[in-house]
Amino acid sequence: NKTSSSNFIKHIVVEDLKAGKYDEIVTRFPPEPNGYLHIGHAKSIVLNFELADEFKGRTNLRFDDTNPVKEDVEFVESIKEDVKWLGFDWDGLFFASDYFDTMYEKAVLLIKKGLAYVEDMSQEEIRAYRGTLTEPGKESPSRSRSVEENLDLFERMKNREFQNGEKVLRAKIDMASPNINLRDPVIYRISHATHHNTGDKWCIYPMYTFAHPLEDAIEGVTHSICTLEFEDQRPFYDWVVEQCEMDATPRQYEFARLNLTNTVMSKRKLKMFVDENIVDGWDDPRMPTISGLRRKGYTPEAIRNFCREIGVSRAFSTVDEQMLEHFIREDLKLKAPRTMAVLEPLKVVITNYPEGEVEWLDAEINPENEEMGTRKIPFSREIYIEQDDFMEDPPSKYFRLFPGNEVRLKHAYFIKCEEVVKDESGNVVELRCTYDPETKSGTGFTGRKVKGTLHWVEATHAKAAEFRLYEPLILDDAGDEGEDKNFLEKVNPKSVEVLSGFVEENMAEAKGHDKYQFFRHGYFNVDPKLSTNENLVFNRIVSLKSSFKL
Ligand code: ATP
Ligand code: MG
Ligand code: MG
Repeated sequence: NKTSSSNFIKHIVVEDLKAGKYDEIVTRFPPEPNGYLHIGHAKSIVLNFELADEFKGRTNLRFDDTNPVKEDVEFVESIKEDVKWLGFDWDGLFFASDYFDTMYEKAVLLIKKGLAYVEDMSQEEIRAYRGTLTEPGKESPSRSRSVEENLDLFERMKNREFQNGEKVLRAKIDMASPNINLRDPVIYRISHATHHNTGDKWCIYPMYTFAHPLEDAIEGVTHSICTLEFEDQRPFYDWVVEQCEMDATPRQYEFARLNLTNTVMSKRKLKMFVDENIVDGWDDPRMPTISGLRRKGYTPEAIRNFCREIGVSRAFSTVDEQMLEHFIREDLKLKAPRTMAVLEPLKVVITNYPEGEVEWLDAEINPENEEMGTRKIPFSREIYIEQDDFMEDPPSKYFRLFPGNEVRLKHAYFIKCEEVVKDESGNVVELRCTYDPETKSGTGFTGRKVKGTLHWVEATHAKAAEFRLYEPLILDDAGDEGEDKNFLEKVNPKSVEVLSGFVEENMAEAKGHDKYQFFRHGYFNVDPKLSTNENLVFNRIVSLKSSFKL
């Protein structure tokens, strides 16, 4: 069982255990169910689960569902599926909304302690009173309300006596604090909306920054790991845990979020791709979602290894998407059978091969993993090669097929191009070649050498198939750093190309998620949604070559 290399959070855990601070490490992965998980979430999942695992602790999956408007059961189910698929088992499965009673009681406790008050001002007024980095905030008139009045108003908020936005509950901390997050942050708001879990029981909902520390403390989380944008919230997190008199004292630690080139990494933005029909759903193979990567053909092993390699730190960085591709190539290298597929076919007739005859040739399944054995492939008078592998007027150093030239057919014979057949518009529609029976692959023939080796598929046994080749959805080397409002303008108009060609007949029974390496083309996955035995559909996971080096 591999685990991530060391990182600063692991170091803290080791020290905490050494000091006897905790009997057991408890972490959690707390997604908001407002979209599908993406590769950035995988970083957090791998970190939280493997950290607890390594020290024989526990990890909870907790849905942070405190916002009734954006959340949905579909997202809850997809998140569970994706975490399991990545290879992790949660200890507890919780919903933040299960704690609404406790959160309400804690808010009442704060009011009783004189540490919370009901605010009448609007959101805009609250913001205007909050001050700036250089200027302290101003106290609101509501701040001086009595405990009794606050208790009464808060109860009436709960009892549906007010409209959305009419009142909020605020923590009473310090309007002059240098940390703006401590200038009486809002902790409860009114939202007359049906919640996916609690239905219409509540019309007041806790704010994320108030709810999160309570959720962690209720579950006995020891190390609450989040991304760096919450760093300035840590003092409020600690304030909530202390003032709400929680039994457990979770500690928050922040790390830099994953950012990848040529993609966006925010559920909100990814949802826009889905809603605007720029992609074909959350699991479109171009999406950086776990479900999109799975459908494209990524394996859990490749994603886990990628997450371990990028490591965990507090430094912002953008990871090259080629690094992710590196890990799927590594994972499939020894696992995926090698076969031949012709994506853009050109018919070749071998004029000196006996008509009606078929012979079966031996072909190794994976030269890097001999244990995978061999397969039989048919050869006859008619085959398909790739249109790109022929040029009528080639430049020098072109070693593929051209009139008069000889090449090797992988696993078969040398063929020589004798004649080019064209249609009325002058397009090449067929090649007429001869083969040399002496040159059969595996016979040790050394009489002469050729420089090009082509892949091919025998025509009468070939199985028609569709191939989908993907390019980045977004063209932007900076990835998703910062708030980019114009990201929809960076959408690549040519992010998918669909080709119709042929595969070897031994792939006729291929099932969704079967993975192959097509000789010279790269790794492909059978599309689990679109592929049928009548019409095979393959997604290209990644091409074979890359300049990327770890
Ligand atoms: P998004 O903006 O995509 O909705 P989020 O942070 O709001 O992301 P959550 O559902 O709150 O999404 O995320 C659950 C956990 O995953 C959080 O702990 C969050 O910090 C972590 N996470 C989200 N995005 C990334 C990322 N790009 N890299 C690392 N961790 C991430
Ligand atoms: Mg969030
Ligand atoms: Mg979010």
